[in-house]
Amino acid sequence: MYEVRTLTIKCPKCGVVENLELDKSEHDFGATGLLRVGYIHKGHVFLLNVDPHFFVRGAYIVSYGAVGSDVLLYFHGYRVLGGFIVGIKTEFISLFRRANIFDVRAYPSSSAMLYEILEAIEKFLGQFAGAKLPKFTGLHGRRYRIVSCKDIVIFSPCRPQESKYKADWLGIICNILAKSEPLDVHALSKIVSYVDENIDRAPTDEDREKLMDLAYGGAGVRV
Ligand SMILES: [Zn+2]
Repeated sequence: MYEVRTLTIKCPKCGVVENLELDKSEHDFGATGLLRVGYIHKGHVFLLNVDPHFFVRGAYIVSYGAVGSDVLLYFHGYRVLGGFIVGIKTEFISLFRRANIFDVRAYPSSSAMLYEILEAIEKFLGQFAGAKLPKFTGLHGRRYRIVSCKDIVIFSPCRPQESKYKADWLGIICNILAKSEPLDVHALSKIVSYVDENIDRAPTDEDREKLMDLAYGGAGVRV
């Protein structure tokens, strides 16, 4: 059954109006019978529970860190893959430019200022439309290394003691992402753990193969 409806909802905290376009045939209302949709606003997430008749069953204001991977998360016109992976050292946001998807799962420490960072990235990319991106930039008061490949751009916050091989490792991740859809959370988390363990040396061809295996062992993520 094909049924599309647009819901217009105003955030009770900041007053921003969101238009949610729903297609019944496309969305999974899951075991709870509710679709969970979230909007990243400044300092909070506006979270909605929508039932299969497109009635809003609940609207909540939550923190970024409280949003699980089951929430269809949005920032401006972008789909955002949330649900942070904890305990990782090599943090980054990846952007799939063609698909308009931000993957923030590998950047848990962004949780306090996610809106500001995404907004800064959007503005930054607007300035470089079509031009070659620099290797570093400042975003919301922090320095980031940029690695890009095809339509993928990775932004990784610089740490005080940075491995000189970090860009090489991020380059491999970027290549993998350029060949696939966003990775499922298990594959992504295995890749980041592998890089965390080995980042202090230069990556070899064997590492490249290993990371490919870790990536394609997964099933891909549904966006
Ligand atoms: Zn709001």
